[in-house]
Amino acid sequence: MTRIVVVGSINMDLVTLAPRFVAPGETLTGDRFLTIPGGKGANQAVAAARLGAQVAMVGNVGADAFGQQLYDGLKAEGIDVGHVRRLDGVGSGTASITVAGGENQIVVVPAANGRVTPAQVEAAREVIRGADAVLVQLEIPLDAVDATLRVAADENVPVILNPAPAQRLPAEWLHRVRYLTPNQHELATVLDDRGDTDFRELMRRAPCPVVLTRGAEGAWFRDGDDAPRHQAGFRVDAVDSTGAGDTFNAALAVFLGEGLDVAVRKACAAAALKVSQLGAQPGMPRRDALDAFLE
Ligand code: ATP
Repeated sequence: MTRIVVVGSINMDLVTLAPRFVAPGETLTGDRFLTIPGGKGANQAVAAARLGAQVAMVGNVGADAFGQQLYDGLKAEGIDVGHVRRLDGVGSGTASITVAGGENQIVVVPAANGRVTPAQVEAAREVIRGADAVLVQLEIPLDAVDATLRVAADENVPVILNPAPAQRLPAEWLHRVRYLTPNQHELATVLDDRGDTDFRELMRRAPCPVVLTRGAEGAWFRDGDDAPRHQAGFRVDAVDSTGAGDTFNAALAVFLGEGLDVAVRKACAAAALKVSQLGAQPGMPRRDALDAFLE
């Protein structure tokens, strides 16, 4: 069984379904309101578990009702929560999401996620050791991401770094990741490119292998010196793209052992299945659904 460790955020998504996005100062009547477990870290953990991997999560929730629900939810997915801390005196992370016409707008408040520490990652060394891949994103403090890269390197475990939300990163980090998985905007930010450089050129400039997602168009990938290659997106009726990138990253990690081409194809298929369903975690496909879709 593939073993994956995810170091990252755990949020409650506060989702409003609206006929369109609001303008500043405007009040709009929405269609529905839902609370759905989310956060890039937890999403990637759940997606990897649904795809059949053995998953351990490293992260924090707060000492509020959301925190208990989030913790129990991860456990119910069969995820090892031995390194998920329940912190006192701080709330759980939240993401206020508006969904309109298959697109989303998101405001994230990190709260407990802002307290993931290098020491916490170090304490998880025993679960990182022997894992097939570590997944990490940028919704936790950068010193904790740095510790993740360090511990994974010590233990010889490949790291997939999903540089979201977009921010500049220490250049040397890019030499320590196995795959960087940005969208175009995130890659431009990571490389500090302020122009409208073609994404293929950005991929060539990156000093590490890159798997770049392009929404409905699918993904482009480049490993070593090869020219970027394209995997077309799978056609689905788009309902909600929340968590598409997270599903993509999880599938990439889970199927990496089958080779990059296969892993990217399966990642595009899993992410497309997610886009056809509502909600980040509730819409993530199980292994049998992915296999049936690809038949
Ligand atoms: P998010 O942050 O909303 O999850 P992202 O920008 O990280 O998104 P995208 O490039 O939008 O990531 O999507 C990730 C992957 O999901 C794409 O590479 C593609 O395979 C799949 N995908 C996204 N949107 C669609 C769509 N409308 N139809 C089919 N596949 C899609």
